[in-house]
Order: sequence, then C-alpha cells, then structure tokens
Amino acid sequence: MGQAPWLLAGTVVERYLKCRRKDCRICAKQGGHGPAYYLSIREDGRTRMVYIPKDHLAEVRRAISDYHAVRDGLQELTKRELQKWRKKRSRQS
Ligand SMILES: [Zn+2]
Repeated sequence: MGQAPWLLAGTVVERYLKCRRKDCRICAKQGGHGPAYYLSIREDGRTRMVYIPKDHLAEVRRAISDYHAVRDGLQELTKRELQKWRKKRSRQS
C-alpha cells in the first residue's frame, strides 16, 4: 500500500449474537448469528471490544501480525542491547 505500517495490539474475537426471534433455527444451532468480528484491546487495564466491519477484517489481522513482528523485533533488540551493556559493565569493574 506504500503507507506506514498500521499496528494494532489486540486480538480478533468472533462473536455470535442472539436475535429476538423465538424458535430461531440459526440461534438454536450455532448460538446466534454471525460470526461478527471484534477487536479485543486492553485499555487502562480494561478490555475493550471494537466492532470490525467484515471488509476490514483482513486489514486488522495484518495490523495485528505487524504489531507482533515489531514487538518481537524490539524484544530481540533489547536482548542484544542488554548483552552489550553487561559486557561493558564487566569490563569496567
Ligand atoms: Zn436468531
């Protein structure tokens, strides 16, 4: 797309929503209509659910996997920096 990567720290959750109709076959069979997709994100210690329109699902999933890639990369970087720092400290003492 040629844009800066879109990063999302969250997970995609599938939900089946019950309708108001009595004796609904779909609700009886699969527990509700759907799936509807939500982005589950942690915000100030709480979990927030954000509805994802179906045509945005692929984009959101990509943003989540891009987030993981960046996070893993930063963790790897931190590990290497820590090793360097430890070596430097042991040389100084
Ligand atoms: Zn139903």
